[in-house]
Amino acid sequence: MTTPPNSSPRPKPWILGIHAYTPGKSTASDGRALVKLSANENPLGTSPAALGVLEKARGQAAIYPDPGAHALRAKIAAVHELDAERIVCGTGSDELLNLAAQGFAGPGDEVLFSRHSFAVYDIAARRCGATPVEAPDTDFTADVDALLGAVTDATRVVYLANPNNPTGTWIDDAELRRLHAGLPADVLLVIDEAYAEYLPKGGSDIGFELAAAHDNVLVTRTFSKIYGLAAERVGWATGAPGLIDVLNRIRGPFNVTVSGQMAALGALSDQEFVARSRSHNAAERARLTEAVTALGNHGLSAVPSEANFLLVEFNGEVTAEAALSALAEAGYAVRHLPEPGLEHCLRITIGHSEDMDRVIATLRTLCGETA
Ligand SMILES: *Cc1c(COP(=O)(O)O)cnc(C)c1O
Repeated sequence: MTTPPNSSPRPKPWILGIHAYTPGKSTASDGRALVKLSANENPLGTSPAALGVLEKARGQAAIYPDPGAHALRAKIAAVHELDAERIVCGTGSDELLNLAAQGFAGPGDEVLFSRHSFAVYDIAARRCGATPVEAPDTDFTADVDALLGAVTDATRVVYLANPNNPTGTWIDDAELRRLHAGLPADVLLVIDEAYAEYLPKGGSDIGFELAAAHDNVLVTRTFSKIYGLAAERVGWATGAPGLIDVLNRIRGPFNVTVSGQMAALGALSDQEFVARSRSHNAAERARLTEAVTALGNHGLSAVPSEANFLLVEFNGEVTAEAALSALAEAGYAVRHLPEPGLEHCLRITIGHSEDMDRVIATLRTLCGETA
């Protein structure tokens, strides 16, 4: 007897283990539009240089984009003093993060990352049937010893977001070197630098140095954060030719749109906008950090951040849920990540100065202090 056919297509079991990514909200529970401080977007918007080119791109909608993103890769290489041959562009860095797991891990393999790091790593591991493994963090920061201690014979890929999302914490050059030095040469280290440009002076080149010197380091960057082009979905990665070759084999052939390539080129030409975004962020983040710290007697505290958001802990009579609804009432959507260990936290994206004023006033009122 032949076995009866299934009544519907059966997904792979590891796919059903995935919890789909939860995006940051922009409306209240009653549907009211809120100021979105929940997705780490640039409150200053997009560089006028990039907006100008986007207008031009409209006329080219019938034509496929350059599959090799040659002009964009050349410009990225020039800005960062890299080799264009060692760069691949992606549909956001999200595509490249996923491809890194797909290219180097599969069923039976392990993909390692720190607790409280970017939600995409777990999805990327499961998508290709690999097992996601979380190493303990320390004070919301990646712990190099814990990561190295969690490496097994099955480990194929290690992700590190630096600075990290959702905590905003960062490990310094020496720690990053130590992490790389402790990994077997056949384990791929993916350094996700989505927020690197928010570091003082636009960050450290340590990731690029490691990626240039070793065959097992891939660095990813994005145009979604400081460059203000999240809607266009453009990211890139740099690493050894063997790594770039693997990503080129499995990426979408036309993965970066015409408008995305043009807008990213425009954005790169306006480093003044980047510098302005960085200094606005640093000033407002310092102000929010200080205001939260001043509410320490009410159980609030700020996790030191190097990114464009602040993770606030609520360990007193004012709960994260209460602050989430008070902020929504005041017109603001912030991020509550109900993942184990972060239930008592809110992640607040740094916005315009006026919005930060109101967020601070709302938190102070909630704590019974004069706004
Ligand atoms: C926002 C973010 C990204 C960027 O994703 P894109 O697909 O490039 O928009 C990558 N990594 C981390 C940690 C992020 O927070």
